[in-house]
Amino acid sequence: MHDPNCIFCKIIAGHIPSTRVYEDEEIFAFHDIHPWAPIHFLMVPKVHIPSMAQLLPEHEALLGRMMVLAPKLAFEQGCGPYPEGGFRVVCNTGALGGQEVHHLHIHVMGGPRPWAKG
Ligand code: AMP
Ligand code: ZN
Repeated sequence: MHDPNCIFCKIIAGHIPSTRVYEDEEIFAFHDIHPWAPIHFLMVPKVHIPSMAQLLPEHEALLGRMMVLAPKLAFEQGCGPYPEGGFRVVCNTGALGGQEVHHLHIHVMGGPRPWAKG
């Protein structure tokens, strides 16, 4: 369920500090340490899933919950209302997808442009 060498598992367990945005029994969200945008947080499942490439049918409800939660958290964090405002969701997968941390995470970015990236 958890990988002792995984930095995001350590964040979820509280062994590495983070700025928490949200937590429930299945999902943890925290600010990205190197934000690309004025608002930039990460949403992760508490269970260690390395990437989208390992998703199974049993994860459908969890990923669905994360996607439904993303706009709620984005607006709570200050993203402007749709359609003038909004936010970007990114889920890098694998080396060519730009994934650096191999614990599935959804980037949620928003706020006034220009952004550093994205
Ligand atoms: P990715 O390239 O999609 O794997 O993105 C990994 C993200 O994790 C990057 O945007 C990093 O800035 C972020 N990150 C890495 N370590 C930490 C940390 N200790 N706390 C918060 N964010 C982190
Ligand atoms: Zn992990």
